[in-house]
Amino acid sequence: MSDRVFYLTTPIYYVNAEPHLGHAYTTIVADAMARWHRLAGDRVWFLTGTDEHGDNIAQTAARAGVSPQAYADRISAAFRETWRRLGITNDDYIRTTEDRHKKVVQKILQTLWEAGEIYLGTYGGQYCFGCERFYTEKEIVDGKCPDHLSPLTYIEEENYFFKMSKYQAWLIDEIQRRPDLIRPERYRNEILGFLRDPLQDLSISRPRTRLEWGIPLPFDDKYVTYVWFDALINYVSALGGPGDPRYETFWPHVEHLIGKDILKPHAVYWPCMLKAAGLPLYRHLNVHGYWRIGGGKMSKSVGNVVEALALADKYGNDAFRYFIMREMVFGLDADFSEEALVARLNADLANDLGNLASRASTLIVNFAGGVVPAGAASPEDRAVGAAFERAVRDAGAAMDELAFHRALAAIWEFVAVVNRDRAGAVPARCGGEDPRGAWAYR
Ligand SMILES: [Zn+2]
Repeated sequence: MSDRVFYLTTPIYYVNAEPHLGHAYTTIVADAMARWHRLAGDRVWFLTGTDEHGDNIAQTAARAGVSPQAYADRISAAFRETWRRLGITNDDYIRTTEDRHKKVVQKILQTLWEAGEIYLGTYGGQYCFGCERFYTEKEIVDGKCPDHLSPLTYIEEENYFFKMSKYQAWLIDEIQRRPDLIRPERYRNEILGFLRDPLQDLSISRPRTRLEWGIPLPFDDKYVTYVWFDALINYVSALGGPGDPRYETFWPHVEHLIGKDILKPHAVYWPCMLKAAGLPLYRHLNVHGYWRIGGGKMSKSVGNVVEALALADKYGNDAFRYFIMREMVFGLDADFSEEALVARLNADLANDLGNLASRASTLIVNFAGGVVPAGAASPEDRAVGAAFERAVRDAGAAMDELAFHRALAAIWEFVAVVNRDRAGAVPARCGGEDPRGAWAYR
């Protein structure tokens, strides 16, 4: 048992849509990291969950003719069931409608209010109901939301604001002082670029005249909490909040894993919120790219969503996990197709690994009486041993850098070394039967 501690979070998924490949990728990567650290003997806490408040959920539930809570219950259960079927090994599952979460959100809000970090102000601006946020002139594209490409609505209202602007210099300094705080580097650069412009204070409330579905502000119950301010706190509330032994154990080691679409809230809002609340910053913000299907971004608005579950069911969880971790360079976008999946599974799993497993077991059965032989090492054995050591080292280094494709490539180099025919060695296909026939994915 090592004395290392590893706390890993996925985003809590917004319950406005059923789980899809984008969610599955983040969660499967997180699961692989958690498994890796457990194998290393680390003390691991792996959190996922669902984000359930805000305009978007209230509107979707109204359209579906059910209460927001009933709607959130249904979608949250669908996420939970998806992770169960994919064999995800999360230690906890947080929902933002749970009392344990609301309590910590209200406590942090009260602390910030008493510390003078929050004030009442008036704000008018172009608002997107889909994004649940105001857009600045610079962000608006042709008068529309840059994300939804739908018209914006001008809204003016009194709201509570978090004094985020005062943390701009601190945040820039922190990102520069810790080069791997946000990784890979392209996302760090994106945030440093964003921070060249003045940072605005953050509106953290919504009047209940417009929105009921949220956590009431503890110091003014005419307002509910802005959904992002509420949601980000899940990473702390799931540990019971400051003072809880679980929080004290795991928070100092927190690693966040997110998709690039939610970079800004995690790289800007969240660090400032933590700083203002007197809580330590995360160790790393790990950011991945999108899966492209037919060249488009992977999201429900594009309409070409792959049913992650269907493919995992068809090919098996391990094979599916292998493909998405081997195919995508962490941080960059990648193309998804079932054809590419089948080709890789056949080449790498059925052929390379399947061949190795088949040969090794045949050799052990036919030539060693079914027992792995121990004893004097031949030069071939030593070469294989050295290749194994190299694979362990390279795979470990790559995992630490979230370079999953390289970690797997390092292991497959070892597979290739063992599969290689050598003069004087037993013929490669000694079993007589080509193992590919039995193993192929179709
Ligand atoms: Zn929008």
